[in-house]
Amino acid sequence: MSFDVNAIREQFPILSRQIDGQPLVYLDNAATTQKPQCVIDAIVNYYSTCNSNVHRGAHRLADEATRLYEGARDTVAEFLQANAREEVIWTGGTTEAINIVANGLGQMLKPGDEVLVTEMEHHANLITWQQACKRAGASLKIAPINDAGELMLDAYEQLLNSNTKFVAFPQVSNALGTLNPIKSLIAKAKAVNALVLVDGAQGIAHGPVNVQELGCDFYAFSAHKLFGPTGVGVLWGRQELLASWPVWQVGGEMISSVSYQDAQWNVLPYRLEAGTPHIAGVIATGEAIRWFMALDMAALAAHEAALLASATEQAEAFEGLRIVGSAQQKMGVLSFVMDAGHPADIGFLLDRQGIAIRTGHHCAEPLMGRLGVPGTARASFSIYNTLAEVDALFAGLSKVKMMLA
Ligand code: PMP
Repeated sequence: MSFDVNAIREQFPILSRQIDGQPLVYLDNAATTQKPQCVIDAIVNYYSTCNSNVHRGAHRLADEATRLYEGARDTVAEFLQANAREEVIWTGGTTEAINIVANGLGQMLKPGDEVLVTEMEHHANLITWQQACKRAGASLKIAPINDAGELMLDAYEQLLNSNTKFVAFPQVSNALGTLNPIKSLIAKAKAVNALVLVDGAQGIAHGPVNVQELGCDFYAFSAHKLFGPTGVGVLWGRQELLASWPVWQVGGEMISSVSYQDAQWNVLPYRLEAGTPHIAGVIATGEAIRWFMALDMAALAAHEAALLASATEQAEAFEGLRIVGSAQQKMGVLSFVMDAGHPADIGFLLDRQGIAIRTGHHCAEPLMGRLGVPGTARASFSIYNTLAEVDALFAGLSKVKMMLA
C-alpha cells in the first residue's frame, strides 16, 4: 500500500468546493474532519434501505439495522484492540464520554481525594473533573506545562501520590498540537493506583491506538474528528469499571426487567446506552473507521509529518509571526499569533481567500491565559491536505499581513 494524497482527496466531495471562486483550503481539521463518500453513502443507505429501530428485531429491517449497528461496535473494538465488544460504549461524543466517567466515578470521590489533569486540557476534560471534585469536596490538581506548551514530566510525577484517585489528560492538545508521552504518563499514574482516562479526541485520527498496550482505564474519542459523522462518540473502558457506578441515564434499552416500583439493569454495553441511539451515525462511524484502518498508517504518518514540517519551517521564517506551542513533539496543528493583527482578523481575511482555519481560545481558555495570549490562529492538518495547501496558507498570510499593515 502507498499513500496517494490525490486519490484520497477524490473520495471527499467537499474538497472540490469553491469559496468565492477559489478552491477551498480546509485547515480546520482539529475542529472536525471532512467525510469521505463511503461515510456519506453509509448514512444515505441506512435511511434508504433499512431504517428501523435496533435491538427489537421482529422484522427484516430491524435485523439488518441491528447487524450494522452492532457490527460498528465490533469495528471499534478491533480498531482500539479492546479485549471485548462490551467495553465499547456509544456516546454522543468525547464530551459526553468524559461526562459519563466523571459523573459516574465522581460519585465515589471523597474529601481528601485528588484528581490530576493538565494545564493543556480542552474544557471537556477540565470542567468535568473540576465539577466532580467540587461536588465531592475533592481537590483538582493541575500538572504544569512549560512555555512551549509541553507537559513538565517531573512536576507531573511529583503531583501523583496515594490520594490521587483519577488522572486525565489529552493524547494530543487540540489548541497547540502537543503530543503527550501517554504510555509513560499512564504507567506513572498506575504506579500510585490511580485510574486513568485518555482524551483521544485529537489523537485518534493520526494513527492506530491499542488500549491494552497503553494500559489506561478509559479512552474517549469523537467520530467526527475521524472522518465520521457528528453526534457520535466512543467511550472505551474496562468492563469492571464501566459496571461499577450507578447507571447515568435510565429508560429503554438499558434495562433487563422493570416493575412499577423497581428496575434491573441490562448488561454492558447496553447498561450505559439508554434510549434509541444515533443509529445512522453509529453505522457511518463503523464505515469511517474501516476506511481509516485500510490506509497505510506509516505512509499517513509520514505525510502528516511532512505537512507539519513544511508549515513549521515557513512559520519560523515568517516575519511578525510567532508559533504558540512547541516546534517539536507535535501533531497536526500549527497555532500562532501575528504582530499584524488579532487572530479573528487573520481568520476572517484568510476565509476571504478560501482558506479555513480556526481562531480563538479553542475551548482551552485557561491554557491561553497560561501562555499569555488571548487566543491563537490555528491551522490543523489532515491526511487529505497537500504541501501546496500549506504554501497557500502562507501566501494567504502574506496578503493578510499587507492588508492589516
Ligand atoms: N477533547 C479534545 C482534545 C478536543 O479537541 C475536543 C473537540 N474539540 C473535545 C475533547 C470535545 O469533543 P466533542 O466536542 O466532539 O465532544
